[in-house]
Amino acid sequence: MIALKEKLLEMNEYFEEKDTDMKTEDGSMMTLKKGRYGEYLESENFAVDGIRIPLPASIKKMVKEGQLEEKDGVIIIKYLLDEIKAVEDKLIAEAGVCEKCGSKFEIKASRRGKFLACSNYPTCKNTRKILKDKETGELSVAPPAKKKAPAKKTATKKKAAAKKEEK
Ligand SMILES: [Zn+2]
Repeated sequence: MIALKEKLLEMNEYFEEKDTDMKTEDGSMMTLKKGRYGEYLESENFAVDGIRIPLPASIKKMVKEGQLEEKDGVIIIKYLLDEIKAVEDKLIAEAGVCEKCGSKFEIKASRRGKFLACSNYPTCKNTRKILKDKETGELSVAPPAKKKAPAKKTATKKKAAAKKEEK
């Protein structure tokens, strides 16, 4: 119990709200905040515009390690987000349209990392992996997955087997 309390204190301790150089499209400043699930940016005008964006894991890590540059009390974060956006835009362009339904792809993040998902989700559940070159670290889009091999998810298999038995 005590350990947990200490842990919570620790989590709340490393910073308060901070101003950043990131702005919303309307020009409202975005504040760096820390919530229960980590750091995020929130518009200073949140009550009106409702803009709140999660931070990518790489930036969260920088926040934790105190690696973000601060100038006159303002956290310099925009260029990092711009860089990430540029890479993501490039990947989306590279992926082209969904080979199953012709919609555009968008970047999604999972616990295992980022991937491209069809923007027509949940109608279309097509996804494409993002590959990382081990030497250069450059990201690229994996080619469309091959036709599904019979060995897929065990759950699906079990379901199918159960269905068969019912008959
Ligand atoms: Zn699709």
